[in-house]
Amino acid sequence: MDVELTETQALVQRTARDFAKRVVAPRAAEIDASSEFPAETLRGLADVGLLAINVAPELGGSGAGAVAYALAMQEIARACASTAVMMSVTNMVGEAIARFGTDAQRRRFCPALASGQAVLGSFALSEPDAGSDPGSLRTTARRDGGGWVLDGAKQWITGGTHAGVFVVWARTGPPAAGSRGLSCFLLEGGTPGLRVGPPEDKMGIRASDTVPLELDACRVPADAMLGDENAGFKVAMMALDGGRIGIASQALGISRAALDESVRYAKDRQAFGSPIAEHQAIQWKLADMRTHIDAAYLLTMRAAWCKDAGRPFTREASMAKVFSSEAAIRACNDAVQIHGGYGYTREFPAERHLRDARVTTIYEGTSEIQRTVIARAVLGTAS
Ligand SMILES: Cc1cc2nc3c(=O)[nH]c(=O)nc-3n(C[C@H](O)[C@H](O)[C@H](O)COP(=O)(O)OP(=O)(O)OC[C@H]3O[C@@H](n4cnc5c(N)ncnc54)[C@H](O)[C@@H]3O)c2cc1C
Repeated sequence: MDVELTETQALVQRTARDFAKRVVAPRAAEIDASSEFPAETLRGLADVGLLAINVAPELGGSGAGAVAYALAMQEIARACASTAVMMSVTNMVGEAIARFGTDAQRRRFCPALASGQAVLGSFALSEPDAGSDPGSLRTTARRDGGGWVLDGAKQWITGGTHAGVFVVWARTGPPAAGSRGLSCFLLEGGTPGLRVGPPEDKMGIRASDTVPLELDACRVPADAMLGDENAGFKVAMMALDGGRIGIASQALGISRAALDESVRYAKDRQAFGSPIAEHQAIQWKLADMRTHIDAAYLLTMRAAWCKDAGRPFTREASMAKVFSSEAAIRACNDAVQIHGGYGYTREFPAERHLRDARVTTIYEGTSEIQRTVIARAVLGTAS
């Protein structure tokens, strides 16, 4: 694994850092408080090439690879975790279409996602009764004339209110086929029969909408299928492997923000006649935060590097995701503690970081599911 960044990777990192400082960070607290969708910011992310980092340039993307993507996600999440999750899911959708789509699907959707014309991409796998176990999902797709008709309900869909393109999973085989009876469809926002419900009132990442979807006799043409019939589970799992690098990076960015705020506060706040940074109990918290950030960074970069090198990276992505997300919750909790009573108020960003970090052990596969993936690899029982 190379620890030195290539010119392209360093350029993407600098671009993201600059954009995060200039555009994303100044509005992060405000859009958290108002739950406002940052439409302008997302257009800006498209303009600087950060919405399709793993999509080839001929399809409108940057083609900069997984390491560059992980670096960019860290920078944006350090400024605003809500913006970062929408960037993450849009990148994931564009990459899935570039990888599994037909030429016509790629040409239609990838440039639209990369340029921000589609606003966002949404990934609609989870359902009210199927999250960790997507093989049990109940949405159906039945053949009708030349196309398909989708019926069912989706839950927790990031960016669903604004998305121009949804990747939706539905059952095309018998229920007994489980995960081998699922197919994947591309659905445009505004398709008749697709109803977007009201956003969830969430603990954190409040400026990214999370919505239920209802699919009521939602008709799509035959060429809306992404990948092969009944092979949709593979599309989901491969997309989620890459997505986990994104969430590990999001968690890393949040941890870094928590450490930045903690260092600043600890040097400034006086107690017992000296800055609290001089008390060993505070120093140890800062030392642990920094150590966990570096460990999370190395795990995340290793997973991204394996992906770029065309090596298997499922286990590596799960290890990065479980470690980085759990480290983020610890770091943010310590940041609140370092801020004392002020950490418990909206006057300082520490409480936002803790609320934002909390979801990273839940979405794109919970920590329990990541450990199951890792254990399968350890035991040699991975399929
Ligand atoms: C803010 C937010 C945004 C999201 N965005 C999206 C999105 O854009 N697209 C999308 O498709 N989904 C999205 N999700 C859904 C997310 O991926 C699921 O919430 C997650 O996979 C867990 O599923 P669940 O909520 O149904 O929990 P459940 O699967 O019901 O799990 C409940 C608990 O049981 C544990 N558990 C379940 N099975 C096992 C097992 N075999 N072994 C050990 N423990 C187990 C889980 O780890 C968890 O602790 C989002 C969720 C949130 C909160």
